This record gives sequence, C-alpha cells and structure tokens, in this order.
Amino acid sequence: MGAPHQLAYIGLGSNLESPIEQVREALNELAMLPLSRLVAASSLYASRPVGPQDQPDFINAVAALETHLSPLALLDQLQALEQQHRRRRQRHWGPRTLDLDLLLYANAAIDTPRLRVPHPHMTARAFVLVPLAEIAPSTHLYQKPLSVWLEHINAQDSNHGLERLASLTIRA
Ligand code: AMP
Repeated sequence: MGAPHQLAYIGLGSNLESPIEQVREALNELAMLPLSRLVAASSLYASRPVGPQDQPDFINAVAALETHLSPLALLDQLQALEQQHRRRRQRHWGPRTLDLDLLLYANAAIDTPRLRVPHPHMTARAFVLVPLAEIAPSTHLYQKPLSVWLEHINAQDSNHGLERLASLTIRA
C-alpha cells in the first residue's frame, strides 16, 4: 500500500463568465484530479468583491479532497485548472474566471514563496470560513475554532454581504 491520503480543503471563487457554472465545473474537475477523491463540497455562496468594487459579485464554495498528492503537486493541479478556465490576471484582487486556493492541507504549516498554508487571508474571509464551517464545523485555525474567527468578522461587519445560494449534493 502507498502512503496514507491527506485531507485538503480548497477555496473556489469566480466572478466572470457565468460564475455559478465556473464553480460547479471546477467542483467536477476537482473530483477528477489524480490520486484524489472529492469527499465534500459546500453550498454555493455569493459575496461582494474584496478590493475594487466596480466588478461583479463573487460566487464561492469550499471543497474537501482526500489526496495522495503533495501540497505542491496539488497546487500545480489547481493552477492548471485555473488556466483551463482562462483565468485573466489583470489586476490584484480584480475579476477572475476561477480562483482556486489551497486553504488547508492536513495539519501542515507551509511558508514558502510559492505556497503558504493555511492560506494567509482565510481567517478574515467570511466567504471562506462560512462554507468551510458548513463541511468541516470542528476545524480549528491557529488553535481557535472557526466560530471565533467568524465572530471577529461579524463584529467588524466585514462579511462582504455573504449569502448562501443553493445546496449542491456531491456523492462521495
Ligand atoms: P492569487 O492571485 O491570490 O490566486 O495568488 C496566486 C499566487 O499565490 C500564486 O503565485 C501561488 O503560488 C501563491 N500562493 C501562495 N499560497 C497559496 C495557496 N495556499 N493557495 C493558492 N495559491 C497560493
């Protein structure tokens, strides 16, 4: 038998070219990744953009993947999927066809130029924490439960108008 699999969480976001379809397709594509199995996907959520406001709202979701890929091999796969969705990098925090972030990889703490895990901004983003809490409610970030991070966000009234859209059932 090979090495045991690890549990990774992926954040998905899109605000261009039929974002709901982009995110749904990306969930199907995550399910097809080599050496990996999609074990859960959150509902879809809508939120106002972070940064420049003169762009469409975002659709977000979080997926859980059991994988034998290393963190960097998984990042390679995520970036290849982003390219397939013709992601245009025009400006920082600008509109994007598909953004895939590696949020968590087992209990790994990684801090390299190409990859930082846990994803650096996730503790401040309701559009990551709320879908993550839906599929992995007992997750802790830096020893604190997700509910504590969410309280911080709500106290600052900075949840970017997050709204749950629809449930999506994924068979494991
Ligand atoms: P962004 O435009 O926000 O998607 O950032 C993409 C860049 O972030 C890429 O160059 C990645 O190598 C880098 N990066 C660092 N940590 C992560 C992570 N946890 N998930 C995805 N990209 C990451």
